[in-house]
Amino acid sequence: MLKIKDLHVHYGNIHAIKGINLDVNEGEIVTLIGANGAGKTTTLRAISKLQSPSAGEINFLDEDITKMSATNIVKRGLIQVPEGRRVFSPMSVMENLELGAYLRKDKAEIKKDLEHIFNIFPRLYERKTQLAGTLSGGEQQMLAIGRALMSKPKLLLLDEPSMGLAPLLVKEIFEIVKDINKNQGIAVLLVEQNANMALKIADRAYVIETGKVVMKGNAKDILENADVKEAYLG
Ligand code: ATP
Repeated sequence: MLKIKDLHVHYGNIHAIKGINLDVNEGEIVTLIGANGAGKTTTLRAISKLQSPSAGEINFLDEDITKMSATNIVKRGLIQVPEGRRVFSPMSVMENLELGAYLRKDKAEIKKDLEHIFNIFPRLYERKTQLAGTLSGGEQQMLAIGRALMSKPKLLLLDEPSMGLAPLLVKEIFEIVKDINKNQGIAVLLVEQNANMALKIADRAYVIETGKVVMKGNAKDILENADVKEAYLG
């Protein structure tokens, strides 16, 4: 469903992404792993058009989206959950979730999706009137994912969902990502520092170093790879 060909991204003189090729198929969880500064976040930002690519082609559901605006990309169901679980702090949990659906007009479906999200995240239901800025880190991550789900994603781009969370909560978040993928059929492109956990829930993986793909394959094989073990799995 997503095909990236020879993607390049520059930040001024910095050549951050140097010709990445990457695919995500329907129903898959694909993970990007790599050290700090390898270019994982930049790749996601180029796909969702938060950053303009300097060269290459991005195709989503058989449509060239390389030059499409971020809003039109969201409309097509390609939704990013940014790093650092950016929620709208002065707004309530409910208002944040409603914002996720701002481009939708299918009111009955929106209501159903909201109920579904409260099923997945009962903690958000308990706190629906609480200001998002006062939620704990883990709750904010849940809200960021819930808000993305309210946009009716076909492909979810998740940037470091486990960052800064306690181990138990990390496990919970990964289980939820797996559940969303399995039960709702939403494909996921997951960027993670926690390579071990990411490779366990992913179908396929790409290893990125200094803006290039240096390895790709089945997540299981990559998890067993000696070089990957040494460099990323501790
Ligand atoms: P991390 O895991 O630390 O978030 P990453 O793999 O996601 O790392 P990116 O954030 O994509 O890496 O950064 C890739 C490279 O681009 C880095 O060298 C970074 O310093 C540079 N970079 C990222 N954002 C900018 C920016 N806004 N301006 C200039 N350089 C940037």
